[in-house]
Amino acid sequence: MANFTHPAQHVIVIGAGVVGLASAWWLLEAGCRVTVVEQAESVGSGCSYRNGGQLSYRYVSPLADAGVPWKALQWLWQPDGPLRFRLEADPRQWRWLARFLASCNAGANRRTTATLLQLGELSRNAMAQLALAVPLQEFAWRNAGKLVVYRSRSLFDAVVSRADVIPDPDNTRQVLSPAEIVQREPALSGLSPQLAGGIFDDGEAVADCHAFCLALAQRLLLHPRFDGIVRAEVRQLQVRQGRIGALLTSSGSLHADRYVLAAGISSRHLAKTAGIYLPVYPLKGYSLTAPIRPGDAAPAVSVTDFERKILYARIGGNLRVAGMADLVGENTAIDPRRITSLLRLACATLPRAADYDRAESWAGLRPATPHGAPIVGATRYPNLWLNVGHGALGFTFACGAAVLLADLMQGKSVALEGLALSR
Ligand SMILES: Cc1cc2nc3c(=O)[nH]c(=O)nc-3n(C[C@H](O)[C@H](O)[C@H](O)COP(=O)(O)OP(=O)(O)OC[C@H]3O[C@@H](n4cnc5c(N)ncnc54)[C@H](O)[C@@H]3O)c2cc1C
Repeated sequence: MANFTHPAQHVIVIGAGVVGLASAWWLLEAGCRVTVVEQAESVGSGCSYRNGGQLSYRYVSPLADAGVPWKALQWLWQPDGPLRFRLEADPRQWRWLARFLASCNAGANRRTTATLLQLGELSRNAMAQLALAVPLQEFAWRNAGKLVVYRSRSLFDAVVSRADVIPDPDNTRQVLSPAEIVQREPALSGLSPQLAGGIFDDGEAVADCHAFCLALAQRLLLHPRFDGIVRAEVRQLQVRQGRIGALLTSSGSLHADRYVLAAGISSRHLAKTAGIYLPVYPLKGYSLTAPIRPGDAAPAVSVTDFERKILYARIGGNLRVAGMADLVGENTAIDPRRITSLLRLACATLPRAADYDRAESWAGLRPATPHGAPIVGATRYPNLWLNVGHGALGFTFACGAAVLLADLMQGKSVALEGLALSR
């Protein structure tokens, strides 16, 4: 078993997104000395910047499922469809797609869902613990509840018949008719004639992920064993005698006892410098952040429009609208057609919810694994660890994955399986 405290092991965490910062916090709590390396000027400016803000501990819904390849083909033909695909001359895209297709079956979906639900529970508890150090109001945390609405009757009936598969120990979940949806969330009154029903979970939350990163970074800087955030681009994991010997960065080399790779989508390039293949591919998504004016009918609960794969959350004084999954390579350029689609769908769904004319657009790259579960744990190098591939739910899982990583790095046995690299 690794001894973290005598003397304190020095760990460098690569990446100051929500996953890297949470990893740093729990490694400090475990007794390590920690440094974070970040290439950007500010923390939380990658995929963690303007995501949907949902802390969706129970509604984990991995994309890879039976029937999804067929649905994906239909989505590609819809002008405002949730999916875009451009075939690239990149074998990593083909390899990822092949593994994704292999995961599109009910058995794989059930296994991934079970793993993610455990990680969700761990994350909820870890967030509650962290809130003692980082007050929830600093990052606009709200126990908003989550309402998933369905337009198709047959789909809704199928979901309801499977609803008991997902445990509901606190009895927080309710199946709602269109009329009950409006009672629960009056902002959806105009939409209700188009709805078959919805599932509401009282136990889910929303928060501002970027504000969370800023608040957490502030607490890290106050921690006596925190060595600071080094502003540098890591270019190579240098291997020496079967271990990571150093990080080669834009500001020279950095050394530690152990290294944690938590660099979002860039993790795959960095891992490759040490000969490790990470099955992570960028799923580009978009968000709009529109100010809520007095008198606007913004929803109080967070809403997921299941068929359109769009979510709506009131975060502070803004409405956040997020969605789309574009497999178009690794760039964060904003495609104006996708923003127009998102705006059109938002205006049709919640027409009076916010000032859409002043909406700010953003695009981010979800670091997605084919099956939909992150990769948390060891590598073939004894001093290199991974916390990557959080896909569509990195804010939700950041705290739980960090607890798990710190436990694994201390050699503790953990109950949660299914997140290792070999998966
Ligand atoms: C449209 C959209 C909506 C989403 N909605 C939700 C949601 O509602 N709920 C939820 O839980 N999740 C959501 N997500 C997913 C979530 O945003 C991501 O899973 C999460 O932000 C990933 O965090 P990360 O720390 O792994 O990556 P990032 O936030 O990208 O952080 C990686 C960091 O590493 C740094 N870095 C990269 N390479 C290097 C290098 N070579 N050297 C130094 N530093 C480096 C980057 O600059 C960056 O700061 C959404 C994502 C998108 C795109």
